[in-house]
Amino acid sequence: MLILGTHMSIAHGLGKTADNALKMQANTMQIFSRNPRGSNFRKPEIAEIEHFQTIRAEHHWGPLLAHAPYTMNLASPQQAVYEFACTVIREDIVRMDDLGMENIVLHPGSHTGCGVSVGIKNIIAGLNQAISGKEQITVLLETMSGKGTEIGATFEQLKTIRDGLYHPERVGICLDTCHIFAAGYDIVNDLDGVLEQFDRVLGLELLHAIHLNDSMMPFASHKDRHATIGDGQIGLDCLLRVIQHPALKALPFYLETPLDDAGHQQEIAMIRDLLDDWEL
Ligand SMILES: [Zn+2]
Repeated sequence: MLILGTHMSIAHGLGKTADNALKMQANTMQIFSRNPRGSNFRKPEIAEIEHFQTIRAEHHWGPLLAHAPYTMNLASPQQAVYEFACTVIREDIVRMDDLGMENIVLHPGSHTGCGVSVGIKNIIAGLNQAISGKEQITVLLETMSGKGTEIGATFEQLKTIRDGLYHPERVGICLDTCHIFAAGYDIVNDLDGVLEQFDRVLGLELLHAIHLNDSMMPFASHKDRHATIGDGQIGLDCLLRVIQHPALKALPFYLETPLDDAGHQQEIAMIRDLLDDWEL
């Protein structure tokens, strides 16, 4: 059973968002853990949370994913930026764990000039003050495209971060197809080779989620521009192979393509239809 959903806005409340996901034939979803560009969050009403929990249980949804805000930079050498990031990730791990989200994903951060090794040290310290080891939720590091001074564009960097943690057992990986393609991992011509490399460096058992996106930008461009499925440089064939790969097919897939709810509904329908055809 394919576990497929999209990134959803919770501007109209968590319950309404779950209703909308159901309408789209999604059986999971990704939501922001708080305002993606700001620092605030709205505490959901109890009735809203109950409605959300009922829907996910009754419809046997797969694992749910929270996404930490983009504005958070745990690698930053600037004290105010860094302390803000430490607070956000510490609070959001607790809040999303309380909500029963299975995973929370974060962009590791950008070193903005202090260098990769200092940046990684900052990320490790930031995660160590946020992860108690007692939470149920798994914290996922996202594979990045490597734009600017971004950390996390190689599997090795993600491994270095994880290896530095007090509680690495609470930390896994979210693989973004657009980002790794832009980072120079050739999933189009050698998906097996890329997954073998992932397995060698990190271990496939650490993979908890896939961000399923096409890429507007070419291979190894180190640019992060998501395209709708089949309309980018990765293409439909490759993305369908990703969904059906024996090492990946049981994972939850989240679309982060530039579409509104109606567009995402069509995209989910297209993928589900194509997979039915494929299996015949
Ligand atoms: Zn992301």
